[in-house]
Amino acid sequence: MVEPRIVVLGAGPAGAATAIGLRRLGYTVTVVSEWRRFAAVEGVSQRVLEGLRHAGLGGALSQAAMPATRQVHWNGQHLQMNQEFLLDRQRFDQALREDLQRAGVSVVEGRVREVVQGGGHHVRLDDGQVLSADFLVEARGRQAPLAADRLRGPETVSLLNVWQGSPGAPASAVESLEDGWAWMARLEDGRCYWQVTQDAAGLPGKAGLAAYCVALRGRSALVAELFDDQALIPAQVHARSSTAILAGECVGQDWIRVGDAAMAVDPLSGNGIFQSLSSALQAPVVINTLLRRPERAELARQFHQQRVEQLFSRFARIGRDFYAQEQSRVGQPFWARRQGWPDAQPLHEAPDWQAVRVERRPVLRDGLVDAVEVVVTADQPLGVWHLQGVELAPVVRQIRSERPVEAVLSGLAGEQQRRVRRWLREQGLAWFEITKR
Ligand code: FAD
Repeated sequence: MVEPRIVVLGAGPAGAATAIGLRRLGYTVTVVSEWRRFAAVEGVSQRVLEGLRHAGLGGALSQAAMPATRQVHWNGQHLQMNQEFLLDRQRFDQALREDLQRAGVSVVEGRVREVVQGGGHHVRLDDGQVLSADFLVEARGRQAPLAADRLRGPETVSLLNVWQGSPGAPASAVESLEDGWAWMARLEDGRCYWQVTQDAAGLPGKAGLAAYCVALRGRSALVAELFDDQALIPAQVHARSSTAILAGECVGQDWIRVGDAAMAVDPLSGNGIFQSLSSALQAPVVINTLLRRPERAELARQFHQQRVEQLFSRFARIGRDFYAQEQSRVGQPFWARRQGWPDAQPLHEAPDWQAVRVERRPVLRDGLVDAVEVVVTADQPLGVWHLQGVELAPVVRQIRSERPVEAVLSGLAGEQQRRVRRWLREQGLAWFEITKR
């Protein structure tokens, strides 16, 4: 087979993880991206750091992540949380390119002006260069053009303020406000970031934003604690849309959307980078299937689209529940809009053994998307294939055919048996069924 030309648009975490994953599968990949123009800091958890390392982006991390203590003012309570890691996004994005180059990916710096279809994809850059691709990965984040969105959250804007203060121990904090919420961070070298997230409607015009933000900071006890008086001087403001968006279609025969280009979540969940990685980590295998096994194209598309949609709903509900914890602001318009979006469905469905069923669904196996029998539950509608190395579908089938649970589990090693038994209990299988001989 002729080596396909794969071009990835955008070198954020999603584009970088997809490109490195494709290299690991043996493909030649070109990433084209412009570089981040504004200074930003984002907070990530230990779990995200592990995900980034796993994706081959360890170099970027070691240069750009620093641990910080974290405080939360929410629902009238003041909590000293365990630490979060602060990512200097300009440094991180710069180091992502170095990780890409180390992995053997060609990196082209340039702004994509348009993508023209016809005998493949033709990517035209601002400088007139044209890159042709047989397969296109859209990873331009929120800037990726959107043909249609399937779902959009309340229209939201984040105003990021940046200034230089005095050096000190790295720290971050989040607090709820009447019309939104603010996240703030101070880096060791004294760089200060304060970001307020609000309804997009009703904000002052561009010229009034800096003064508006100063007034909000002036009313915050956390700001007074974290920053020096410099916080009360108007700072440089950068406005970013932070509306939650799910793209209409995320994958076709010769293209795929990953990261924020597929779905972007509300920054309150603090999971943006995590969710962008989740869709990017599965993408190389989906692409491999589309290129090498066209007969499985529909299965591969189903796999990517369903997972993106499920991930979006999960993070949207996590965000909703976090907004809902702010009971002292119930009824205020900003909060009311978000405490009920996207729906009233609980984050986790109650277990129901009767609803547990075995179905054939797409999974990732040996570098390809394949259809296997999985166990579908109310809480895991896409199905669970393995648990601790044990295939669950045969276990459920045997129990359904009245074979005693002890007999079904007898061949399993101690830890496997313990985990499967616990999983059965969590699915609502009656205790006496699990223990009777
Ligand atoms: P991006 O990181 O946006 O990367 C897209 C890349 O494409 C960039 O390099 C860009 O320069 C490039 N690009 C765009 N257009 C073009 C073009 N036309 N031509 C060439 N290149 C182009 N996540 C967290 O985990 N923690 C947080 O604290 C957090 N805070 C956030 C605060 C706000 C206000 C917002 C909006 C988001 C926040 N996020 C946070 C989310 C996080 O930024 C994103 O989820 C993550 O960066 C998405 O990665 P990505 O690779 O999909 O896109």
